[in-house]
Amino acid sequence: MSTVEIDALGLAQALIRCPSVTPKDEGVLDVLTGALEGLGFVCHRLTFSQDGAADVSNLYARFGAAAPNFCFAGHVDVVPVGDAGAWCVDPFAADVRGGHLYGRGAADMKGAIACFAAAAARFLASAPDLAGSISLLITGDEEGPAINGTAKVLRWMAERGERIDCCLVGEPTNPTRLGETIKIGRRGSLNGRLAVHGVQGHSAYPELADNPIPRLIAMLHALTAEPLDGGSDHFEASTLAITTVDVGNPARNVIPATARAAFNVRFNDHHTAAAVESWLRRRLDALGGAYDLEVAVSGESFLTPPGRLSGIVAAAIVAHVGTPPTLGTGGGTSDARFIKDVCPVAEFGLVGSTMHKVDERVALSDLDALTDIYADVLGRYFEAA
Ligand SMILES: [Zn+2]
Repeated sequence: MSTVEIDALGLAQALIRCPSVTPKDEGVLDVLTGALEGLGFVCHRLTFSQDGAADVSNLYARFGAAAPNFCFAGHVDVVPVGDAGAWCVDPFAADVRGGHLYGRGAADMKGAIACFAAAAARFLASAPDLAGSISLLITGDEEGPAINGTAKVLRWMAERGERIDCCLVGEPTNPTRLGETIKIGRRGSLNGRLAVHGVQGHSAYPELADNPIPRLIAMLHALTAEPLDGGSDHFEASTLAITTVDVGNPARNVIPATARAAFNVRFNDHHTAAAVESWLRRRLDALGGAYDLEVAVSGESFLTPPGRLSGIVAAAIVAHVGTPPTLGTGGGTSDARFIKDVCPVAEFGLVGSTMHKVDERVALSDLDALTDIYADVLGRYFEAA
């Protein structure tokens, strides 16, 4: 049993004051480790540096040794501030103004990490005989390439036989109001780079050349003329967005040899990335002609079907804000895409309307409410365990 209290606002401020723009740590994990060790967590600092990417520090902290192990996951790295002069405050000063905590990472997602530590402190003080464990899996590489982050921590855990039984990721899932949305899955994301090849020539003699541009246009039309699907039970329809078309031809009288385009596919649980790639190639092959398609997958789609974890989080939200959340799957990817291979995972955090923006901030009342909700989630999880 612990009698230590953690003030979510104070801890959030201390975390924000470390300018941990990916992949820099700047002391942020020391701050968090200090708070968790004070509660009796055993902390493992995990620095990974392979694969040509920058060194990244991560943290796995666990209180208790018994099962079940409830894990909270998140990231302490933040995106750059952009134009610091456009902020109304120093982005790393963690100032409080008008009932809001300002700073890079306040919403995404140092605020939620502080709330979770505060909730764990409160819960442990009330649960002297905890039959189970609470853990935190915190990475410094979520906003970056995510190579030396959560995926490698999970591999390290698997090698040690370190097991988590369910995981709540504290990403800012609420569009405008705390309690609006739990995420129970995410769409997959695939980037395609298409190059169409022809034969260069004089534009006055097009019969002596092979212009790749009309074929590129026809191919892009073929990729966008009909949707990949009509959505599924928990997902919107998959989308394909053309992100650039490049020929880069400075001459007016030359037919170029190559024309390029790029696009991004966000796909739902009807597809795997491999199936999306075959769908793309079938449509391109049907038009014929020489082309190259390079595909890079940044994540598969996944869904934790509504069940015990989302039910517990939803019940805690209803108890504190009065209305039930929606169970969503929209938005970008998160590290839940790695954790879903290990255990049921859901995401719930602060309001994300200012994330990655100038003047990122969270309401102080939301820090209090999120701490209450997380503490309630722990209570309901272990009460039923
Ligand atoms: Zn985030």
